[in-house]
Parts: sequence; structure tokens; C-alpha cells
Amino acid sequence: TEPLLVARSIRKTYRLNRGQTLQAVDDVSLEVRPGEVLGLVGESGCGKSTLGRCLLRLTDLTSGELLFEGHDISRASERTLRPLRPRMQMVFQDSYASLNPVRRIGDLLAEPLKIHRDVHGQRRTRATIAARLEELMDLVGLPVSALARYPHEFSGGQRQRINIARALALSPRLIVADEPVSALDVSVQAQIVNLFTDLKERLGLTYVFIAHDLAVVRQISTRVAVMYLGTIVEMGETDTVLHTPAHPYTAALIAAVPEPVIRLHASRTLLRGDVPSPIAPPSGCRFHTRCPKAEARCAQDAPTLRSLGDERLVACHFPIVG
Ligand code: SF4
Ligand code: MG
Repeated sequence: TEPLLVARSIRKTYRLNRGQTLQAVDDVSLEVRPGEVLGLVGESGCGKSTLGRCLLRLTDLTSGELLFEGHDISRASERTLRPLRPRMQMVFQDSYASLNPVRRIGDLLAEPLKIHRDVHGQRRTRATIAARLEELMDLVGLPVSALARYPHEFSGGQRQRINIARALALSPRLIVADEPVSALDVSVQAQIVNLFTDLKERLGLTYVFIAHDLAVVRQISTRVAVMYLGTIVEMGETDTVLHTPAHPYTAALIAAVPEPVIRLHASRTLLRGDVPSPIAPPSGCRFHTRCPKAEARCAQDAPTLRSLGDERLVACHFPIVG
């Protein structure tokens, strides 16, 4: 089957003061296959959110190629993107900030249904919209009475259900969820992760699921991509990557989980130091300043992603094997 989304060497560079640049996303290539959940993990500031926004063309790419359902959207105008927008949606972390506090839930959810035409190019009638709103409440497990209420009347978990309903309104195929459970209590997190899983099964959705919590990623993702300073350092089947990490950074991330949900076969390596500034990233392998396995070569040559077999890619001169 054809991938739903293909990114080839995409870059997102921000120009800062004094001629400095920040490479938020640097040469990222990946595919998102229909029906899969691609987890995107890494410490905060590694470029996960920017990459997520690039993948949905919510921001312009500095360079690279992006295909959605076979359409080249790398440099597509907003007008060209408009008919594709219903099929690619985003769910954000901060459920409150993304809901207008002075509007009722019903109005918030009706908005995309009014703006976009239906699959036949027709405007939706009031009755169609009302029926769809009820359907959406049912899908995300909220009572229909919620439609008449305001965002502040809900808990964080309920508000995230509302955000998910809004993302679902136009029947998308792809959802990029950016840390959708990170701001929630642990008990509520599990419910929302389960909701994502249920919806995926019921509606045949595909997700890119951004998280820094490996337990969450392990629960929901079929594949995982690990990011460090704007680049993907390891990518593969979730079980393979989390049980036998090949990149020292992945191994360190796993070892840093306070109560390991994942038994690690590789020797425990702890992350030392902070993430270097993306404005002046280290030479060679960007992880060399923190890597327990670094050798002289690592400071000079930047490793590129290569296959380790087992459907896994790793960017390291000295990957952990076995
Ligand atoms: Fe560590 Fe070198 Fe591999 Fe980078 S290339 S992760 S510094 S061993
Ligand atoms: Mg982020």
C-alpha cells in the first residue's frame, strides 16, 4: 500500500537576530503508512512539534519534499491545501488554549463544518451539522448536553475529548497529535490514550503521535521515531526500538524512565548534561557531547540513517548491537 504521507529531507530553519539560524528540523525523511501510529519521541526542544506542524504544512518548509495522499504539498499555497485540510488534522497539548473560552462547544465544533464543504462539494445544512455534532459527542464519549456548555465547564480530560471531536469533525484520515496527554493526570492520560486507540480502530485513522513519555508511546505506537536536535536518530518497530535500542540516545532515554516499563537489554547509559543549543549544534554527531560511546570520529563525521535490518534505521557510527 502507498504511504499516506511521505517526507523527504525536510528542513525548517528559523532566522534569528544577528544572522543566527535555528535548524528546528534538519533533513528529516519518513513515511507514514495508512493505519499505523508513528510515535515521535525526544526531549523537549528537539523539534518534535515543529516537525509535526511541518508534516501537516501548518508552517512553510525551508526545503524538502512532502507528499500527502500522493499530492506534492511541499510548497502548496493555502488555497491548494484547503480541500486537503479536512483530511489532515492536528490535536494540541494545551486543550484550554485551543478552545475559544467565550464560545459554546457546539459552536466551536460546528465551525469547521460550516467553513469546509462536504465530500460532494456542498455546504452542510443546519440539520446535517446538528446530527454530526451529536455523532461526534458519541464518538468521544461526551453527553450531547456538552454542546450547550462552555470550555471552562469541563475538566482537562473532557476538554481534550472536545479537541479530539473537533479534529474528527471533517472525517480526517491523518491526525498529528502533539503531546495530547502530557498535560493530563496519569489516570486521565490512560483514558485519552484508549480513546485514541478506539477511534483509530473505529474510523480507520492514522496517527503521528508526539510524546516525551515512552510508556505512552509504547502503548499506542506501532512504529517509533526518536528525535535529537532536529534530526531522527533511530526509527523502527516500537517493540524493537524500545527493547533493543541501537542508538545510544534511545538507550539513554529509556534508562532515564524512573520506573522502567521497559526492560532494557543494553547496558544502562544515563544521559549526562543538557541538550545543546540548536542554534549552535555540536559538530559531527550531534549527540557526541553527551554520548557514553563517543569516539574521536563522532565529533567530525555526522552519521546518516542507515538500515540495521529488522525494519530499523539508526544514525550512529557505533550502534549498540544485540
Ligand atoms: Fe555516540 Fe558516536 Fe553514535 Fe553519535 S555516532 S551516537 S557520538 S557513538
Ligand atoms: Mg513540543
